[in-house]
Amino acid sequence: MVLREVNGMFLGDLDTFTLITIALTLFLIAYMVAMSVFSRRKEVKVRKTYTILKCVDCDYKKEREFKEGDYVGKVEGDCPQCEGPLVIYAIYDKEEKLR
Ligand SMILES: [Zn+2]
Repeated sequence: MVLREVNGMFLGDLDTFTLITIALTLFLIAYMVAMSVFSRRKEVKVRKTYTILKCVDCDYKKEREFKEGDYVGKVEGDCPQCEGPLVIYAIYDKEEKLR
């Protein structure tokens, strides 16, 4: 066994108990690493609400995160393209996957 020979050179001859302990420790480390990789890969879904703003006069459209007080039909500022009124056109929920 190569491991035993290599260790034997530096640490002296290892008995069975030490080898089992090392094997168990390595297994535990590998298990923990695998678990952390697995939990990182697990998808976390978060629901987020978005608001779509649309210009009344042209086809300018903007999407942003929902703010309190938003409602469909609310006028919010001017269109950056034609300075017409920007109106909240839709509010919707989106499921987002977080890493
Ligand atoms: Zn416009």
